[in-house]
Amino acid sequence: MYKLTFLFLLVSSFIFAQTNSKSDQKKPNLIVIMTDDMGWADVGFNGCKDIPTPNIDVIANEGVRFEEGYVSFPVCGPSRAGFLTGRYQDRFGFTTNPSINPKNSKSGLPVEEETLAQVLRKADYNNAIIGKWHMGTNAVFHPLERGFDYFYGFLSGGHNYYPDQLTLNDLSEVKEKWQWYRTKIIENRTKVETDDYLTDELSDAAVRYINKQAENNQHFMLYLAYNAPHTPLQATEKYLSRFPNIKDKRRKTYAAMVSAVDDGVGRVLEALREKELDENTIVVFLSDNGGAHNNASDNGPLRGLKGDLFEGGIRVPFAMRWKGMIPEGKSYEKPVSSLDIMATIVAQTEVKINADRPLDGVNLIPFLTGEADGTPHDYLFWRKWEQNAMAIRSGNHKLVSNRQQVKNPPELYDLSNDMAETKNLKSDEEKVYKRLLNEWKKWDSEMKDRVFPTLGQDKWWTKKN
Ligand code: CA
Repeated sequence: MYKLTFLFLLVSSFIFAQTNSKSDQKKPNLIVIMTDDMGWADVGFNGCKDIPTPNIDVIANEGVRFEEGYVSFPVCGPSRAGFLTGRYQDRFGFTTNPSINPKNSKSGLPVEEETLAQVLRKADYNNAIIGKWHMGTNAVFHPLERGFDYFYGFLSGGHNYYPDQLTLNDLSEVKEKWQWYRTKIIENRTKVETDDYLTDELSDAAVRYINKQAENNQHFMLYLAYNAPHTPLQATEKYLSRFPNIKDKRRKTYAAMVSAVDDGVGRVLEALREKELDENTIVVFLSDNGGAHNNASDNGPLRGLKGDLFEGGIRVPFAMRWKGMIPEGKSYEKPVSSLDIMATIVAQTEVKINADRPLDGVNLIPFLTGEADGTPHDYLFWRKWEQNAMAIRSGNHKLVSNRQQVKNPPELYDLSNDMAETKNLKSDEEKVYKRLLNEWKKWDSEMKDRVFPTLGQDKWWTKKN
């Protein structure tokens, strides 16, 4: 009897230990691949014809394609601040692209806000950002101060792609606007010499990072923030030669830049497969805002461009894969937001969010599996504080004033039959109009004014303070 009890204890403690280490292993990794200024119609899964993106399409084909996937702002900086905190960036006054000024300790993601990386660190994740940071250049904003364990990339909002153009040692050598595109790449806190096309450098770093985490049996979050296909339009012959049929030189270069990203995505997915991590890794692909006026991108039927609160500025190519957990090859029709990425991964851990800073995003998994019906968001909100512009989405309706509400009163559209926002329903649907405007005003009253100078306008700040 004694022997049996002992055996039972031994077996059960063995099982317990197994379950424990298994549940530990089961914390899913997260890879967020974010492109820069890519058009809604520039991926195969949204119908792109002239630029094949077979690897990016794998994410949608083996997972979910979001038909109405939004970001929280139509330009780089604020959109990324929203994604990285899971909160509307206007809650903390990140209303514009911050000035690139290493001496300014206000121009960046306020340190009081918790980033995705800081939160996941509490669940023992290793966190990396590879690529574009854009959340401030002062030392207090450095990725390694904001929850990341590894950084390979650049601090400013864009970069040149050819290695021989990266001639400045660091931001202290910048003498005029845009020279920050020419600084050397940084690994953690040290500049490194690179010899490859930047997009390939970033893909290499991503694969190295994944392999290292796999070898250490370490769960991780990788934010792979390609600056492609943001300007300057620069591509190498290797990628340009894939597009002999595109006559327009700018579109051809843009296509080559997207193709380089697609190769990188393929290598990331291959690394996951090789290390047998593809079942336990959530992979998200999206652009930080819609296609821009200056990079030959294509927003398809959507109205407007980067910078606009029309769909072309804020609706982006967006897909998510989690093998075995969410359906394969599904199109999800209800609106989702980049803010949801943080809420989704946090829900897979036992980490508690700071009660003073609740998330605006929601965990999407139950909606994708069908466990929850209904819609993830009753309302989605946007604001451009500088231009007094607004937008709100509820059901199929969207109310939008793209510039100066005083001069351009909000227009009401039904996106279910008018995704191009052409037919203003304001006079037909007074009730909906009023309800949406009131909801937006309520939300707006919780938001903060800008807390730092915008890119290139530090004088504004000096005068005000
Ligand atoms: Ca952008």
